[in-house]
Amino acid sequence: MKQNKLKDFDVSKIRADFPILKREVNGKPLVYLDNGATTQKPQSVIDAITHYYSDMNSNVHRGVHYLSQISTDAFEVTRRNIQSFINARHEHEIIITTGTTHSINIIATCFGKANIGLGDEIIISAMEHHSNIVPWQMICEEKGAILKVIPMNEQGELDIEAYKGLFSEKTKIASFTYVSNSLGTINPIKDMIAIAHEHHVPVFLDAAQAIQHIKIDVQDLDVDFLAFSGHKMYGPTGIGVLYGKEDALNAIPPYQGGGDMIKEVTFEKTTYNELPFKFEAGTPNIEAGICLNAAIEYINAIGIDEIASYEEELLSYAQEQLETVPGIRFIGTAAHKSSVISFLIDGTHPYDVGVILDKLGIAVRTGHHCAQPVMDKFGIPGTIRASFALYNTKQEVDTLVAGLKRAANMLV
Ligand SMILES: *Cc1c(COP(=O)(O)O)cnc(C)c1O
Repeated sequence: MKQNKLKDFDVSKIRADFPILKREVNGKPLVYLDNGATTQKPQSVIDAITHYYSDMNSNVHRGVHYLSQISTDAFEVTRRNIQSFINARHEHEIIITTGTTHSINIIATCFGKANIGLGDEIIISAMEHHSNIVPWQMICEEKGAILKVIPMNEQGELDIEAYKGLFSEKTKIASFTYVSNSLGTINPIKDMIAIAHEHHVPVFLDAAQAIQHIKIDVQDLDVDFLAFSGHKMYGPTGIGVLYGKEDALNAIPPYQGGGDMIKEVTFEKTTYNELPFKFEAGTPNIEAGICLNAAIEYINAIGIDEIASYEEELLSYAQEQLETVPGIRFIGTAAHKSSVISFLIDGTHPYDVGVILDKLGIAVRTGHHCAQPVMDKFGIPGTIRASFALYNTKQEVDTLVAGLKRAANMLV
């Protein structure tokens, strides 16, 4: 079944949808392997932005006039399509934010305000992105709460036995990533969520590196809160999603005060609007909100399962080919991985390798990938990271491998 579907996956046709992939960098065809940082945009998303400003531009949720109505409708279509994309029970469980970072800050702050006190405990993991560490540290500092960290092994897999041992009467929330942005590890989140729920602890899931690669069903996962960013799923920057179970979102106070998030304002008292608007103060990033829908439609037209199969095939090809590079050392060798490969080349600095690759038109990320504790764990300052998307090809993998061999020759 999977195999048959994969035959329909035509990567050259997909590449034609992304105008930037036609350009050259330093006189060489662009090989874009920094998709973990942000993905490129298909023409349909780019066109949607122009269409919004040429035909619809108007503020949302406010005017009685025609343009305001059509832009509001388009904005709300996005919300409904996100709802069905992640199979949320209710439309109002989808909060439009500016991105994953914003979504985490909303929950850390608001859940923290309502539920976290002196001596309480918050569980995160050793492989979190800084944006799933710092907001929790800030609330810990404010409330005198304690951060507990799930350890990981040398392969870059979380220690689930140790995780079970972290829970206590004081544990108030657990927050961890679905897929590690620096190692590619896919965590056994369904089990991890169930374990937290046995202790009556809600879970926040950082899905920033999962949403574009893996089918997510929030009801099946039974996750309490979840976040992702538009720009990592072929959509615009400055837009993201916070999902929360209705009861969980109703139980916490709003984040910011302003327009749209109120029902009634007097100088004596303000009553807050209902979900989702309670968490959406002020004019949102309307064009990005509307255009995120074009990205979701793009993914849906291809099929997330087809994308996952293709990327799996590409990942194992890349892994095999990269093993032929002399002196390569992989960081993060989990059994279950998404399309991220982090590595070092003996006797070279990641930055120097990155600069040589750039001269060859190859874009990779070098450095700590906003996950310094992960680098500390492996005793390294950073890695070279190649992260793949649905438009990458085996030929591009070959170009990367040739580039790395050349870099190693020059530097070692
Ligand atoms: C990119 C990323 C974030 C932060 O996303 P922003 O879009 O920068 O807000 C958080 N967590 C993970 C795992 C990420 O990859």
